[in-house]
Amino acid sequence: MKRYSADEIARLRAADRRHVWHPFTQMKDWTEDPEDPLVVAYAEGCNLFDVGGKQYIDGISSLWVTVHGHRHPALDAALAAQAGEVAHSTLLGLSNVPAIQLAERLIRIAPPGLTRVFYSDSGSTAVEVALKIAFQYWQQRGDARRTKFLALREAYHGDTIGSVSLGGMDIFHRVFRPLLFDALRAPAPYCYRCELGKSWPSCAMACAEDLAATVRARGEELAAVVVEPLVMGAAGMITAPPGWLARVRAACDATGALLVCDEVATGFGRTGKMFACEHEGVAPDLMAVAKGLTGGYLPLAATLATERVYEAFLGDYSERRTFFHGHTYTGNPLACAVALANLDTFEQERTLEVLQPKIALLAELLAPLASHPHVGEVRQKGFMVGIELVADRATRRAYPFEERRGARAARAARRRGAIVRPLGDVVVLMPPLAIDEETLRALVRIVRGAIDAATLDADPDARTPDGTPTTPEEST
Ligand code: PMP
Repeated sequence: MKRYSADEIARLRAADRRHVWHPFTQMKDWTEDPEDPLVVAYAEGCNLFDVGGKQYIDGISSLWVTVHGHRHPALDAALAAQAGEVAHSTLLGLSNVPAIQLAERLIRIAPPGLTRVFYSDSGSTAVEVALKIAFQYWQQRGDARRTKFLALREAYHGDTIGSVSLGGMDIFHRVFRPLLFDALRAPAPYCYRCELGKSWPSCAMACAEDLAATVRARGEELAAVVVEPLVMGAAGMITAPPGWLARVRAACDATGALLVCDEVATGFGRTGKMFACEHEGVAPDLMAVAKGLTGGYLPLAATLATERVYEAFLGDYSERRTFFHGHTYTGNPLACAVALANLDTFEQERTLEVLQPKIALLAELLAPLASHPHVGEVRQKGFMVGIELVADRATRRAYPFEERRGARAARAARRRGAIVRPLGDVVVLMPPLAIDEETLRALVRIVRGAIDAATLDADPDARTPDGTPTTPEEST
């Protein structure tokens, strides 16, 4: 671990504030924050270290990407070995060894029927590619009326204009509305705040029926239905009731619309299976993957397609059926080599098998939070967790937006030695799959203390659900 002097640290922090524009960040807050920005310098396993040497548990897998931990020897070695061969070469007009091997490997583990791999660089581009493929597919199948997409309210599929058009999160997406194409909408399967005013299971999944009704009514215009399977990540880890995804697949099948599954967040083990679709035996027509594909090492994404979709793009050059889309770093050999090592490590370390008891332990550790006076709901699917903070449990009343309770909880967790990131007032936990039991226990302990600190302040006599007083801010 490189050491930084106090002067170097001060210089780095000042230069960050002067020049770096951080994503999803109000830079006025960032610049004026009385606390210094946390500058990561080093990582080991499931821990990050800042320039001053302070250690933090990586409670969100560095934005949902790290799988086997940081600086895993097999992934490090694959990266170094590939750097000794070729770092980059284009897939436009050429191929490269790791890109071929990874495509073969992805098809082997993907849901049945997916046979073709189109590479790009991020979750957003993987979704954008899926949209463009779906659109062009219908044009070339001679069904030019099919130009519409159906997405969920509260959906998040990335930040490029196409994926933002599918997005349903007002706070991120509203300002761009004049630039976007219109998407048809269906309710999110958000049982805690059901927009149809129903409750699960007596609702008989009215939200899925609402989606199916729109698909039936607008079926002839519909190119594809786009969903995050099982867990809507950025919307606040909204977990769909069992059977929901299979209902969506059935609705598509009834009218011929393509099903696009955005597995960017859920893929590579996060829900307890390699892909979330597997929980319901669903095979999409197009599937977007990114984030965990390289185990958290390099930006790489892929859009997988069925043979039927792919075939619609074949023909004489003069027919103009080519998919004219590609990015400079498409199929980057370094990234593909690390992705291969990532998938090898899943097998060698039996990652998904070893994960199952950890999922159960996580549920057990989170259980006491369910009765916390300011926790409305704890949602968990595998290693994806959202803890929704509320002002009033009985009425489910949310906190005023400007109180930023989720951000306060994340800040309190950081002081206690864990990195978590809120989505509004939902505290997200998504530890690396490789986290050990002791670190998982420490993470949940820290998060419980942080939630107390962020929610019980207005009530100085408040006790945590197990009767202990509120944890002081600076302790762990
Ligand atoms: N789709 C989903 C479901 C996501 O969660 C995300 C990112 N959080 C994206 C797409 C966009 O991925 P990226 O940030 O890599 O563009």
